[in-house]
Amino acid sequence: MLFKHPSPDPHDTAPDTLPQSLVPGGLMAGGRVRASLQALSPALERQLMVLSAVWDTTGDALMVTDERNTIVAVNPAFERVTGYAEHEVVGQSPSLLASGSHNAAFYEAMWSKLQSEGHWEGEVLNRRKSGVVYPEHLRIQVLRDPATGELLNHVAMFADMSLQKAAQRKMQRMASYDQLTGLPNQVLLRDRAEQAMAQAQAGGFQLAMLVLDLDHFKAVNDSLGHAGGDELLRQISRALVEVAAPTETVSRRGGDEFVFLLPKVDIQTLRLVAQRVLVALADPFLVSGQEAVVSASVGVAVYPNDGTDFDALLNNAESAMYKAKESGRRCVRFFTEQMNQGARDRMALLGGLSRAADRGELRLHFQPLVNLSTSEVMGAEALVRWERPGFGLLAPALFIPEAETTGLIVGIGAWVLHEACLQQRRWSESGLGHLHMAVNVSALQFRQGILERQVTEALAETGADPKRLELELTESTLMVQPEEVMDTLLSLKRRGVQLAIDDFGTGYSSLAYLRRLAVDKIKIDQSFVRDITVDADGAAIVRAVIQMARSLGLRTLGEGVETQVNRRALQVLGCDYAQGYFFGKPMPADEFEQWVNRARQPPLATP
Ligand code: C2E
Ligand code: MG
Ligand code: MG
Repeated sequence: MLFKHPSPDPHDTAPDTLPQSLVPGGLMAGGRVRASLQALSPALERQLMVLSAVWDTTGDALMVTDERNTIVAVNPAFERVTGYAEHEVVGQSPSLLASGSHNAAFYEAMWSKLQSEGHWEGEVLNRRKSGVVYPEHLRIQVLRDPATGELLNHVAMFADMSLQKAAQRKMQRMASYDQLTGLPNQVLLRDRAEQAMAQAQAGGFQLAMLVLDLDHFKAVNDSLGHAGGDELLRQISRALVEVAAPTETVSRRGGDEFVFLLPKVDIQTLRLVAQRVLVALADPFLVSGQEAVVSASVGVAVYPNDGTDFDALLNNAESAMYKAKESGRRCVRFFTEQMNQGARDRMALLGGLSRAADRGELRLHFQPLVNLSTSEVMGAEALVRWERPGFGLLAPALFIPEAETTGLIVGIGAWVLHEACLQQRRWSESGLGHLHMAVNVSALQFRQGILERQVTEALAETGADPKRLELELTESTLMVQPEEVMDTLLSLKRRGVQLAIDDFGTGYSSLAYLRRLAVDKIKIDQSFVRDITVDADGAAIVRAVIQMARSLGLRTLGEGVETQVNRRALQVLGCDYAQGYFFGKPMPADEFEQWVNRARQPPLATP
């Protein structure tokens, strides 16, 4: 293969023809050299002996082919590199070394250079006898008769590059990755950050750099010993990589400092990510049987506001990190003061919210659920509020989303369930036992059997009637952990608890799927109810949902009914129940009771 000559057909490997007499055959035959040296002059003899020693001992593989491109001699290094013994290759074509990695054009170029310049040099992938393909650096020299210019031989010299290549790859890795943790190092970080900044500039979005420094790492390190400290850093890097999205880069700057690069962020998610990073380190790490508790201080800088190049951004993120250290560590600080304010507000909200239930600051309001054909109140939806000191009564939109991202919703949910069941029990004692109590539950409550435990406890502690308890969950909750949700729901159903799908139409679940989950009722989202009277399409959608629900034996409730027109339209379309300001707003328990008693006397509204 190496000595293939160009020809009109690139696949034709016809060799050149060379007179064998011109080849210094004795020399090339290596060990057999001495016998044929007898006839030579002593000077020439010595020269040839030197050459013979070089041939035998050089680390470079040598191969000589004759005028027909047939191998006539190879040296011991050739045997070592290729795995072929000399007797196996002499008389063969060099193509037995070919790996199939190069195309015809590659060899054509090689041959054309050999013809015009008499030598060629480059990298080639060849195959050893064992089948293993290896890279070699190959030099080919053409030998011609000085008198006639006739081609005599090709001499090929090559060295196995596998080890060098592996070393090169290792060097490249070392140049881009941190040895201890395997995370990208600052060289690679800079590279990625610069690319990300170019994209952010082109796309007009923001990116963020978070510098994270472990608090009191030196003390931890000392107590664990050097190897323990290294192991802890490796565990921490794994924990950090786990909280990062695939597009985000987590790198180690050295020591106990890490840098996150978030290539595209908005401020809201940025705060969450920063928080997530702190939470990721909150659980103790286990290093050789010893618990290590760590925390970190995080500084954040945002492109382009806080810096438009890598160094500026990194410096500013770092000075924000020092501010975090000064503020007592284990916290996040932004380079920009205004963002610090936002972060502090959020921390204060979460701090207050985590204690709201214990401090008795949570309230339940009740909104009537009305039977459209009889105009009777069939129940109430319990809606939580937070009496936040200094802020007044907060609507759920101001704290439920935060409670959901931090997990606080689990505790709040337990309080709501207990309180709602207690109220249901009180009603049953004051003649309102027929009323259903609808309670909103969050996806997080479905984890690890929490909801089932919470419901069991609430029912047991209050003595409420499970058949009057209705859980409202959204379509997205059903999608998060379908198996866990399914198991929980079926087990709750067996105890008589009712199920409703809240805000139906805003997710992607099919009614047939809901039927399989043994859902009792679907609550059609406000947005659809509002559209009923706006155009024919709006009405058509609601009609279709109601008809399908009916055919599957599900009840329907229209949410957000604000006008008599809405109410009528729903009723005409065959909707069973409704809820909305038209009937009554959410109100405290005592007000709700008065409202029900008032509504009982004259008909609530014209049917
Ligand atoms: P949701 O479960 O869909 O509750 C209905 C929301 O629509 C309530 O808002 C209610 O006040 C409002 N609403 C009722 N009728 C009308 C109307 O005619 N017009 C308009 N514009 N709005 C109406 P609220 O109380 O602010 O609750 C908002 C959401 O907060 C609830 O939506 C629910 O998703 C969540 N939420 C409330 N309490 C809890 C709770 O205890 N746990 C959980 N996980 N989420 C809750
Ligand atoms: Mg609801
Ligand atoms: Mg709803």
